[in-house]
Amino acid sequence: MVLTHHHWDHTWGLAAWDAPATAHRRCAEAMAAEATLPWSHEELRRRIAAQPLLGPSYRARARAVDDFGELRLVAPDTVFDDRLTVTAGGATVELAHVGGGHAHGSSVVRVPAAGVLFLGDAYYPPPHHLRRPGDGPDLELAASLLGPDVEWWVEGHDVPRTRAEAEAALRAAGSATG
Ligand SMILES: [Zn+2]
Repeated sequence: MVLTHHHWDHTWGLAAWDAPATAHRRCAEAMAAEATLPWSHEELRRRIAAQPLLGPSYRARARAVDDFGELRLVAPDTVFDDRLTVTAGGATVELAHVGGGHAHGSSVVRVPAAGVLFLGDAYYPPPHHLRRPGDGPDLELAASLLGPDVEWWVEGHDVPRTRAEAEAALRAAGSATG
């Protein structure tokens, strides 16, 4: 397993997988910090009342978890700092930290033999409670990641795209955000 960043919708299910997990150090640190917090429906309501901008994220967590008594937040088995190359299922897999405004620990995952790039949410805007007026997708970061080696562009919250489809989607996003 590679954890592309610490956000709950990408990490809270980790305990369900019987597989070694790897993450960037800053992702692992943010996960460790969340794991020390108490989580319950009452706690979520309390924190939303104290900081309403957390509402979208915390209400989504409340919808996703019926019983917080069963929630187990576990740490990744290994962390890396800049880049890491691993072999999985016979394929070479390259992990690279890219950071960015969505999550400072964001990493992308390349499978060069297949031309696949997994982006997680790397170029998405900052999460709602950290977003400032004018914040949008980081199209500069996205463009820098769409190198000539990429045949398949797989981002966290959208369909996989061919290179041409990804270029078109990024162009459309660019004209939408000006
Ligand atoms: Zn995210």
